[in-house]
Amino acid sequence: MINIPRLNMAHLPTPVDSMPRLGAYLGGYEVQVKRDDQTGLAFGGNKTRKLETLVAAAQANGARTLITTGAIQSNHCRQTAAAAARAGLDAMLVLTGEQPPEQSANLLLDGLLGAEIIWADRDQREQQLQEVFNTAWNTGRRPYLIPYGGSNATGAAAYTSAIKEVMNQGVEVDWIIFASSSGGTQAGMVAGAYLYDFRGKILGISVDEPADRLQARIATLASEVCDLLGSPHHFEKTEILVNDAYLGGGYGVLGSAEEEAIRLVARLEGLLLDPVYTGRAAAGMIDLFRAGFFKPGEKVLFWHTGGTPALFATQYQDRLRSPYIT
Ligand SMILES: *Cc1c(COP(=O)(O)O)cnc(C)c1O
Repeated sequence: MINIPRLNMAHLPTPVDSMPRLGAYLGGYEVQVKRDDQTGLAFGGNKTRKLETLVAAAQANGARTLITTGAIQSNHCRQTAAAAARAGLDAMLVLTGEQPPEQSANLLLDGLLGAEIIWADRDQREQQLQEVFNTAWNTGRRPYLIPYGGSNATGAAAYTSAIKEVMNQGVEVDWIIFASSSGGTQAGMVAGAYLYDFRGKILGISVDEPADRLQARIATLASEVCDLLGSPHHFEKTEILVNDAYLGGGYGVLGSAEEEAIRLVARLEGLLLDPVYTGRAAAGMIDLFRAGFFKPGEKVLFWHTGGTPALFATQYQDRLRSPYIT
């Protein structure tokens, strides 16, 4: 287990399910899914693991308020609001974009969980985040800043134990595939694979960034995680596997590829993906199968990182509603 402070907020280990009907559809492969959408904290997701170490660090700093940032439908912000509530802290969320006319999905949940929302322009986000922090500090609220996506070394470190967890579950796979965005999840997995000698390949499907930028960030962050955990190791960006062929219409845009993946996996496996991250990663994975990327007999683990509340966001209803229900 990792040797930094950590709270117990996630339901662990998360299950590993097989997806036989999807595997047959994709040409007779063994495909499994790691259910990090079931981490249990207010609809769960990958941020719960990161928040176990981040909120522990906040408490060690004497924090009374968590401040973080993200998009309007940020899963990270929803999870941070829930973690703050459980830890008895206030949450302030700096959300980028225009205040939408309706509160739906994650934004609705942010409010229920008691978070304060501050609206920011995307290009001024870091500056506004700092201003919110300074004001909170000056008014005695003892704020603690959690970075975008919870992706610093402390947050990412939690994903080293997720790798240990699947190894302990007896899961032997050639590939782990999942949605990669701020890079903390992948950095933690890569560091965990090094620390625990996991031999499978860890392939992030980029959701919103060119591969070389994301690879560089992940290599740096994975190196910082190893430092933090007392086993220094330097990762090169060329060691980090990222595919950026599936950026589609950009961040948060639900296109036909994502829609197809969501419908396919729902109908074949009764498993719900999300419009922003796992729908895009699954669309990429399905395309890689169709293109013959995997060798016969290779085993693939799709890591479900959560995000399913966004299925209920108003902006996606036009694409997701069924034409057969009238
Ligand atoms: C944040 C998030 C990701 C990406 O994780 P990173 O650590 O930011 O790369 C993937 N899927 C879902 C559902 C997320 O909320």
